[in-house]
Amino acid sequence: MIRVGLGTDLHRLVEGRRLLLAGVEIPSGRGEDAHSDGDVLAHAVIDAVLGAAALGDIGEFFPDTEAAYKNADSMMLLSRCWKQVQKEGWHLGNLDCVIVLETPKVLPYREKIRASLARALDSEAVFVKAKTAEGIGPLGEGAAIGAEAVCLLEK
Ligand code: MG
Repeated sequence: MIRVGLGTDLHRLVEGRRLLLAGVEIPSGRGEDAHSDGDVLAHAVIDAVLGAAALGDIGEFFPDTEAAYKNADSMMLLSRCWKQVQKEGWHLGNLDCVIVLETPKVLPYREKIRASLARALDSEAVFVKAKTAEGIGPLGEGAAIGAEAVCLLEK
């Protein structure tokens, strides 16, 4: 059996926060504003894997009203979700992701980001791409960062 899952996320970029992508810190004057650590890519991947397994979504698993998740390490949250997915007998077919960020360029960090997701999901069938929003809208103006992830699960 195969199942596909989709996850998307968007966070405001603000001064005084770290810019994290799958746990990799990207040097930048601004980072993701959030209750958790704000790791937009980790959040999109969590929703993709949970959705494919039909287990729920990130908001149900880790409510942003709970103090326990204040500044939470999102890659730890992904690992917890992935354990649940694996418990249901699923393994990763593949994961593909898109980061939408105007600046800085993600490419120099792409392999580190990819490897971090591969570690968390026990699979090398992981790829990460990045693009700008061509100056259009809040993403293009650099007010926000977005991520999309699609995964295939097999059992
Ligand atoms: Mg989020």
